[in-house]
Amino acid sequence: MHIKTQAIVLRERAIDEFDSVLTLLSRERGVITAYARGARKPRGSLKVPSELLSYSCFVLFWNRDRYQVDRADLDTLFMGVRADVEKLSLASYFCQLLMETAPKEEAAGEYLRLLLNALYLLDKGKRDCSFIKPVFELRLMTMCGFMPDLVSCAGCGCFEAEEIYLLAQSAQIICGDCLKKEPPGETPVRLSKTVLAAMRHILYAPFEKLFSFTIPDQQLADLNEITQYYVMVQTEKRFETLDFYLSVKLPT
Ligand SMILES: [Zn+2]
Repeated sequence: MHIKTQAIVLRERAIDEFDSVLTLLSRERGVITAYARGARKPRGSLKVPSELLSYSCFVLFWNRDRYQVDRADLDTLFMGVRADVEKLSLASYFCQLLMETAPKEEAAGEYLRLLLNALYLLDKGKRDCSFIKPVFELRLMTMCGFMPDLVSCAGCGCFEAEEIYLLAQSAQIICGDCLKKEPPGETPVRLSKTVLAAMRHILYAPFEKLFSFTIPDQQLADLNEITQYYVMVQTEKRFETLDFYLSVKLPT
């Protein structure tokens, strides 16, 4: 059975001299693993489409419980991301996050769209890594079932308060008064008004407006800390690709 799908390479793993196994994020089937025969042949037609972050139209053949790449027509290479160690390391983190959280064997058009948009903005230098990162992290969490409730305080239901805290484990916010009355069994993280507004935008904005906001540098740094902490708490994982990104990222 043949399947045609738009997909991007999240990981390429060599299995012998000429062949690779690809982890793809595909529009129709989400995260899948596909065997790419000849992917490592220097002049093979699958060489470039099999590289990390290559976005192509793949024709896959399903046989004996696995996909095999029949053909791939390259669409985008994202050279501007590949050529920059900071951008590439951030993109690798996004790929690892998607392998962990995106649907497998079912449609994942929204996930693909989020990644492609983030890569496009990085590729063209339209937004910095430190802006793209928290937007991607938090929006992804909302898509894969880890959406926090940022509408109102979990205790009293107020929308605004002098002090608002994120409870990352229980995925909700709580106001300063409620926090004093009934301390939660987890560490609260203080959210400034600017950071909370940005987080609400990332969660609730229509996709077309997702990346269309600005935030001062100091609050952006806070937002980065908070969203990566939230990802770590919710997925219960520490991603080595994130550590690598943090080790190479330029100071903002
Ligand atoms: Zn409250």
